[in-house]
Amino acid sequence: MATFAINLKDGSVESTRETIIGIDLGTTNSLVAYMKDGQPVCVKGADGKSTLVPSVIHFAENEQIIVGDAAKNKLITDPANTIYSVKRLMGKSFRDVQGTEGYYGYQIIDDDTESLVKIRVKDRFYTPVELSAHILRELKTRIETDLSTVITKAVITVPAYFNDNQRQATRDAGKLAGLDVLRIVNEPTAAALAYGLGNGTDAAPSTVAVYDLGGGTFDISILRIENGIFEVLSTNGDTFLGGDDFDRAIVSLWQQELGITTQELNENKELGQQIRLLAEAAKKHLSSAELFESELNGRKVSLSKGRFEQLVEPLLDRTVACCKNALRDAKVTAADIENVIMVGGSTRTPYVKNRVAQFFEKPVFDSLHPDEVVALGAAIQADILAGNQKDLLLLDITPLSLGIETVGGLMDVIVPRNSKVPSKAGRQYTTSVDGQKNLKISVFQGERDLVEHNRKLGEFILRDIPPMPAGLPKIDIQFIINADGILTVRARELRSNLETQVEIKPTYGITEEEMALMLIDSIQNASSDVKARGVLEARNEANNLLLSGRKFLQQNEAILSEEEKAVTNALLNELLEATKTEDKDVIHRAIETLNQYTTPLAHRALDSNIRAAMAGKKI
Ligand code: AMP
Repeated sequence: MATFAINLKDGSVESTRETIIGIDLGTTNSLVAYMKDGQPVCVKGADGKSTLVPSVIHFAENEQIIVGDAAKNKLITDPANTIYSVKRLMGKSFRDVQGTEGYYGYQIIDDDTESLVKIRVKDRFYTPVELSAHILRELKTRIETDLSTVITKAVITVPAYFNDNQRQATRDAGKLAGLDVLRIVNEPTAAALAYGLGNGTDAAPSTVAVYDLGGGTFDISILRIENGIFEVLSTNGDTFLGGDDFDRAIVSLWQQELGITTQELNENKELGQQIRLLAEAAKKHLSSAELFESELNGRKVSLSKGRFEQLVEPLLDRTVACCKNALRDAKVTAADIENVIMVGGSTRTPYVKNRVAQFFEKPVFDSLHPDEVVALGAAIQADILAGNQKDLLLLDITPLSLGIETVGGLMDVIVPRNSKVPSKAGRQYTTSVDGQKNLKISVFQGERDLVEHNRKLGEFILRDIPPMPAGLPKIDIQFIINADGILTVRARELRSNLETQVEIKPTYGITEEEMALMLIDSIQNASSDVKARGVLEARNEANNLLLSGRKFLQQNEAILSEEEKAVTNALLNELLEATKTEDKDVIHRAIETLNQYTTPLAHRALDSNIRAAMAGKKI
């Protein structure tokens, strides 16, 4: 919880609290967690039972959108309008998913093979980002109802192998759901945090394996934890292997025993669903019993634990093969692994745990609910960001190297991969032509030597360099990555003090305009509580701005003119008045007016602070 101070009535100081939540946005199920009395807990649904929200979205005839258990029930009755496994499509183009379209019961659009996929529901098109935002909104509502407060900040987890496109898409989904995503965290890192690994910066380094077997996917990650830094050494897995395959193995055994053909199951959807549900029930039952017995349409079905273990043996062999690959890539052996963490509902099967323990030659960590581990860890990460866990230092690292293009298309790395974030690094360059006036700076991300093989993040031009012979100008280029992972690149010609800088935003994902349109769209289609929530959210934003605005005035007295101070004060008062209305647009307009006026002032203050800090320093 972060504490900040504001009194809505008279502007005086009082204490309110803001909770930062942790979200596990899963392929099959999603969860939301927060810190309660110093412990992470997952939030249960209104029925007080499950903490899992099935990651399923249903679009009804009347335009109503439902998410979770109720939507899951529609998978059978209305498959074309029921979307599942949207995480598999995040940040992907149609080309990326070609060949797997058959897996989805809904329509994936291929109008342009290079652009990101869209999903067709009736006569509307949705991006995976919009669909994920529906799931995130459901989680947000769940925790807001539970805690009776507005939530605006979150940490969201993603698989360690997610690339920047997929991470950015996840961040966008959060934004669309009205969440400020403070950090995207790797799922295995969250799992390790949930088990208290990496506590304290002086702890001995350790190597950890996170074995994550869910409903439809398997991931193995090898982590190195040292000085509070979680480094992903390697990842491996199978995106189409999980508990659903256990169920299918049982179904096909019973099919043989009862003489039911696959064609029969395909034609008789109800029977197909019945037998699948019974198979899953059998599997779960066998996690704590020796024998399962039941009936299917008046005929006896049974399954012993031993037979079940035989059935899943080949599937577990496949996970072990992935583990071997992951160890090889991380250049460690099974004996080097200190801790093995169990994640995902399918690790509830005791035989899975046995096989994994046998492979790594040590007992596994399984004391936490395997489907809650990641969300619990995300809540801990959120708590660290809120500044409440002083003894736990968690640093993010850059997943790929960052650098600029130099002569001949070579990549000159400025921030190597696995650097701690936030970080700052720089280097000096010069011109290659006499009298060169402009210098184009192209920023790339990747590990290859030639920039053409890396990803271009952006470019900008340092203009009007005073004419000098080649080699004389001293151009200082600084890469600054803030705690959110946003990169700012600054270039300065030292002899003339000419300076330019840009914030590098990735060139993929959805544009701000698309985002705005989707936002308007989602509001138009949402239910009536949107209005109330809109006011609360606007008020929240306004309160934060009032606080930071007042602080800004105090801290920058010296560099602001009397007029600037007076106008800022007047605009702050107008904003305070606006927060007392019930009209979010009035509040937003006041926010915008204040922002418009103060943004140039803030830039000026920032530049003067940085200049003061940099004065006299050499790289
Ligand atoms: P997840 O994707 O992590 O939510 O995992 C879902 C998978 O866990 C599904 O295949 C479930 O059938 C499976 N699962 C849930 N509970 C159990 C249990 N008690 N024993 C075995 N598998 C389970």
